[in-house]
Amino acid sequence: MPEIFADLHIHSKYSRATSKQMDVKQLVYYAHLKGLKLLGTGDCTHPTWLRELKQNLHEFNDGIYLVKHSKYEVFFMITGEVCTIHEHGEKVRKVHHVLFLPSLETAEAVNDILGRYADLSADGRPIFNNLSPATLVEILSEVDSRIMIFPAHLWTPWFGALGSKSGFDSVTECYEDKTDRIKAIETGLSSDPPMNWRVSSLDKYTLLSFSDSHSPWPWRLGREATVFKLETLSYKEIVDSISKKDRNRILFTVEVDPRFGKYHWTGCRRCNFSVPPGQYKLYGGRCPNCGRKMTVGVADRVEELADRPENAKPLNAIPYMHLIPLSELLSVYYKKPVHSKLIWQVYVDSVKKVGSEFEILIKAPEEKLLKIFPRPLVKFIIKNRRGELKIKPGYDGIYGELMLEEEFLENGKTSKMQRLDEFFYRSQ
Ligand SMILES: [Zn+2]
Ligand SMILES: [Zn+2]
Repeated sequence: MPEIFADLHIHSKYSRATSKQMDVKQLVYYAHLKGLKLLGTGDCTHPTWLRELKQNLHEFNDGIYLVKHSKYEVFFMITGEVCTIHEHGEKVRKVHHVLFLPSLETAEAVNDILGRYADLSADGRPIFNNLSPATLVEILSEVDSRIMIFPAHLWTPWFGALGSKSGFDSVTECYEDKTDRIKAIETGLSSDPPMNWRVSSLDKYTLLSFSDSHSPWPWRLGREATVFKLETLSYKEIVDSISKKDRNRILFTVEVDPRFGKYHWTGCRRCNFSVPPGQYKLYGGRCPNCGRKMTVGVADRVEELADRPENAKPLNAIPYMHLIPLSELLSVYYKKPVHSKLIWQVYVDSVKKVGSEFEILIKAPEEKLLKIFPRPLVKFIIKNRRGELKIKPGYDGIYGELMLEEEFLENGKTSKMQRLDEFFYRSQ
């Protein structure tokens, strides 16, 4: 089988603060543009969403589904995310967990049981109060031993298993006597594999990357992904390759630069104030402007738990690639909002010519790109491919910001309209 770009942590329109467009028909269209071959359904615990999935999907192979009557060959696996809140060591711990389920039938069985602990229809990502992560693992294992569960966005201050606000100091402390059932961790947007490699106790886990997207737009969907190469596309193979941290079957992960994430640095969003790693203690952890406690970012949190120097790399590490979505590059280059009509037009036009966004970002030779894009933009895309873009780090819930260096403009004074004209001229 060819490589499979997979995004297995997303949300449906039934989760809070998600796009109304998050349904399977929209998802396969945007996944197709992006170059994603496999999506998680997200929100498998939500009764209405599960009903929609049963109506719209048919099983293609063991645990792998296709949308009925769709012209796009984009597969689905049954996935979800749940939140546990409980007290441990006199501290309230809030943790998000990703679930992989072997079938829609298992999802029904899971919901029968989990429905006793929370109102599953309240949110696509249900909250279980007074339920420990270990108990959650136990409940799920009893329903079906093939279910996979692992911590979502491991480091985010809120809801990350190792987060600075309500997390733990180790995966073992979080999952207690059920830790041996945990085979993977999701690194989240604000951390990348090299940051995780600094904590030796994480070596045994497979580092996975997914978007956690709340909308189907290609600057969200697949902004992080895991790339598999499998004999056959099946639930069993996916889970087996992850459980064994098999570098032959998991080729690499796609990561945004961690500075692009919303919680990379420590700071205070109210005051637009952030500090580089290692400095927040100089301020007593408080914002010098409003005096509130700053939100400790992922970079500082990793430093606290790290037992290895920077640039350390474990032997069996899975490769990764830093990539910022194409729409973001276009938006910065043409100085138009990422969701504007013009950027969308350029995006769709170029993706249709090359095949997919990942093809443009990762594989298309420079000569091919030059036939479509102006030279400085091609340079920008190549820099992205090498992970060399300039990014202002995100903090306290504010995304990092991609910066355009002057060197990318052949003529610094070229107007954005001239640049767009050039694109459409080349595109004809
Ligand atoms: Zn989450
Ligand atoms: Zn402040």
